[in-house]
Amino acid sequence: MRLSYAFIPTLKEIPADATMKSHQLMLRAGLMRQLTAGVYAFLPLAYRAMLKAMEIIREEMNAIGGQEFHLPALNPESLWVTTGRRNIPNLILSIKERDLVLAPTHEEVIAWLAAYHIQSYKDLPQIWYQIQTKFRNEPRPRSGVLRGRQFIMKDSYTLDATWEGLDASYQAHAEAYRKIFRRCGLDFFEVGASSGAMGGTGSQEFMIESPSGEDTVVLCPKCGYAANLEIAESALPPLERKSETKPLEEIHTPNVRTIDELARFLKVDQTRLAKSVVYQHDGKPLLALMVGNDELNEAKLTAALGAGEVKPIPTEELLALTGADGGSIGPVGLKNFRIIADRRLKNANGMISGANRNDYHLGNIDFTRDVTLEGFHDLRTVESEEPCVSCNSPLKVSNAIELGHIFKLGTKYSEALDATFLDENGKAQPVIMGSYGIGVERIIACHIEQSHDEHGIVWNKALAPYDLHLIAANMNHEETVKISAGLYEELREIGVEVLFDDRTNVSPGFKFKDADLMGMPVQVIVGERGLKERKIEIKRRRSGERTLVPIQDAVGAIRKMIAD
Ligand code: ATP
Ligand code: MG
Repeated sequence: MRLSYAFIPTLKEIPADATMKSHQLMLRAGLMRQLTAGVYAFLPLAYRAMLKAMEIIREEMNAIGGQEFHLPALNPESLWVTTGRRNIPNLILSIKERDLVLAPTHEEVIAWLAAYHIQSYKDLPQIWYQIQTKFRNEPRPRSGVLRGRQFIMKDSYTLDATWEGLDASYQAHAEAYRKIFRRCGLDFFEVGASSGAMGGTGSQEFMIESPSGEDTVVLCPKCGYAANLEIAESALPPLERKSETKPLEEIHTPNVRTIDELARFLKVDQTRLAKSVVYQHDGKPLLALMVGNDELNEAKLTAALGAGEVKPIPTEELLALTGADGGSIGPVGLKNFRIIADRRLKNANGMISGANRNDYHLGNIDFTRDVTLEGFHDLRTVESEEPCVSCNSPLKVSNAIELGHIFKLGTKYSEALDATFLDENGKAQPVIMGSYGIGVERIIACHIEQSHDEHGIVWNKALAPYDLHLIAANMNHEETVKISAGLYEELREIGVEVLFDDRTNVSPGFKFKDADLMGMPVQVIVGERGLKERKIEIKRRRSGERTLVPIQDAVGAIRKMIAD
């Protein structure tokens, strides 16, 4: 492609609203433009890289027996009502005039197809996939293409007759994902993940570490334990039970609101305090009790409660329900609430919590004696330096970006949509499903996050839009024009993808800067000075290493440089 003709609108300035490097560089290097919040136009340079990522994905999906589909992005709303996903917060964008929704993922359509056409165990297993546009009602699209309202996903679905079959399909995907991300040159790791709103029995995410990532992961540098903060556990022990258990006592605590204030006021350690966190679950009031300053993890809470929506309770309602404000609520004698507690509180006694009366707390609470609750669950958020569940070494908490997610769905969607098959005994069984996604834009943006310098993008060979950036330094110099154009044709003939800077109105310095910004792995510079010695210059973008090569050896040397 000749740059004099190409549409690659580079920018000199860093756009003000872009904080992440990948976002800044994708704008500056002319890869994309934002049309509206979370919606991007991918320009030719970006789309070439995306096509390369998609081809790698396609090859690895085909290698495990995947069959490529193209499913509709427009879905009837009723399909999503049937599975109960129509009203999941922040998920679905819809077209009201026609009762259509824009599919955020495709479990529903897959199960619909399976319901019609999978009849017997002999029709299974199946691996179905597509690479297609998804739409999501993301509340805060930011970080550039990492979180769009419209984005391209490779999504695949496995259909199996047995749970062992699902395990095998899942493992095949895990291995394919490792190959895909390795081939894309990404420095990634894997974590155990929450099954979240999707329902399911096991899941893993593929991540890159990044300070601006929106996911938080817990890692053990010693034994390799790795989990999303949504499910991560630590070996922090439960509270010890005191030998003596005393009668309840009311304590006057004027104007004391927070756990820290209460600990200071009563001169006790915060682990003696049981903190009340209130929610409504499916419209019903819910109290969750935590130890002192332990932070409640909403993903764990949601998982513990099973289906249903968890929301905060409005302050006015709280007062009407309990007779007290947030800071004075506690589990003893509390009516109208379902109560659950963090597992560290199991068997705890001598605890202090709200008295359900403003400015009062209750002391000597014994969880085995005074509190009626539904159960103890792991509800707390792990903090850095806590002991690892598997090896007791200090854990590390990091931010990360999710590249892909694999998921043992089970039978949630096949049951909802009646996708059954006849097993070997002629008995109808729901198809056992798995679901697996990779964000195409995220591959590109994560590669740029991991591979750039102060001058611009540093593409690797696998994803680079072009193999080579050929620069004719001065187009007013006849010999430069002749040699560079000759090289351009010759390289293209042997299948090298060349971006040729043949612009006449741009200074050599400007061309060099653009080449570094756009970041193709190899640059070839044809300039007056080199040509005096019948030589051209080859520069490796990543290391900056330069070599002068005689013109007659240029093609061979370039091929070699591209290959390694
Ligand atoms: P996140 O937690 O980041 O919102 P998710 O759990 O909703 O991701 P999945 O539903 O598992 O994501 O989708 C599969 C893949 O699609 C993700 O691993 C990610 O690479 C990509 N993806 C999801 N949401 C977006 C988005 N809004 N913009 C770009 N890519 C996305
Ligand atoms: Mg999401």
